[in-house]
Amino acid sequence: MIFLDAAATTPVRREVLEAMWPYLSGEFGNPSSHHSLGEAAASALAGARAGVAKVLNCRSGEVTFTSGGTEADNLAVKGIALARQASDPALNRVVISAIEHPAVEESARYLERVHGFAVDVVPVDGNGRVTVDALQGVLGPGTALVSIMYANNEVGTVQPVAELAAAAHELGIPFHTDAVQAAGWLPLDVKVLGVDALSLSGHKLGAPKGSGVLFAKGRLRIEPLVHGGGQERGRRSGTENVAGAVALSMALTLSHAEQASMAERVSGLRDRFISAVQGSVPEAMLTGHPWERLPSVASFCFPGTSGESVLLELERLDVVCSSGSACAAGSDAPSPVLLALGIAPETAQTAVRFSFTSAIIETELEQAAAAVATAVGRVRNLATPQRG
Ligand code: PLP
Repeated sequence: MIFLDAAATTPVRREVLEAMWPYLSGEFGNPSSHHSLGEAAASALAGARAGVAKVLNCRSGEVTFTSGGTEADNLAVKGIALARQASDPALNRVVISAIEHPAVEESARYLERVHGFAVDVVPVDGNGRVTVDALQGVLGPGTALVSIMYANNEVGTVQPVAELAAAAHELGIPFHTDAVQAAGWLPLDVKVLGVDALSLSGHKLGAPKGSGVLFAKGRLRIEPLVHGGGQERGRRSGTENVAGAVALSMALTLSHAEQASMAERVSGLRDRFISAVQGSVPEAMLTGHPWERLPSVASFCFPGTSGESVLLELERLDVVCSSGSACAAGSDAPSPVLLALGIAPETAQTAVRFSFTSAIIETELEQAAAAVATAVGRVRNLATPQRG
């Protein structure tokens, strides 16, 4: 099978499994316990936190472990906005982009529904980019937080995060970015990015599902979402997932060390894959920015087909990928991300996303490109009524 759905999830790396194993077996202590097993767990957790902080170029105390990217996004959007509103009730607006993951979008909608916030949605251009002008157009004195993703999960477009964060800071507004898809492929130095908060997810990086991180600047007040024993410096209560934290830290450290070379290698393969698909399916429409895109994502619409049918045909040909709307679990409505890019609903229904792990090799992508031409051809033939 050729696995081209790495933006959905990735297998756990062997080094990661080996690093976490002791904390699932012999060293199984609770980091809050005052005996040697507890102390070993606490020190593993501290090591994991330091590992993440090193990659992000922040302090250990600014790293909060969560149950994944969704929780990290929820904690950032709700936690920062609510804490700011508590200090100044006039801060009752949040800004998100039109192509955020549901973890950010639904957190903003919750603030609107339950806490009386207004949600300002900053539009994207036809390539899925937010411009500084567009952002400045929606910022105002009541804005409590801006949350704009680093790289999009459906089309792979990368945002000019440093410039957008600087525009928010001009008005003293904190800036959060969802870096779940960017991690492993793009630089993650939070000082260079200039962000106040950043979310990560372990399972996109070769760690298990159910581990995540929120970086948040030490002085940023965050209203916790999970109350209890005060773990994670009160930002996120609950007995810590020590093995998950160790795994995420190891996966992040490994992918960070490989990031520059992997990004170069895989973007070359991605570009050849895009050319091969466009060569054999001339009407294939690349979605997202032509070059400001993740090395690991090639996404297309195939007008005249249905994305779901192309996926099924591809799976018959042993190629696994996903439709553009995969993130709206179980829904066959056109992807809101593609609609926000100005793509017509009937074209958005034809979307297919190919996303690569860092282990991808050229021959797999050559086979996949040939399979795409076959699959699209088969779906077209089925869709066109036969004469006679
Ligand atoms: N943000 C983005 C951009 C994502 O792609 C995903 C997962 O697909 C998430 C957040 C949610 O992460 P998790 O699956 O760890 O909850």
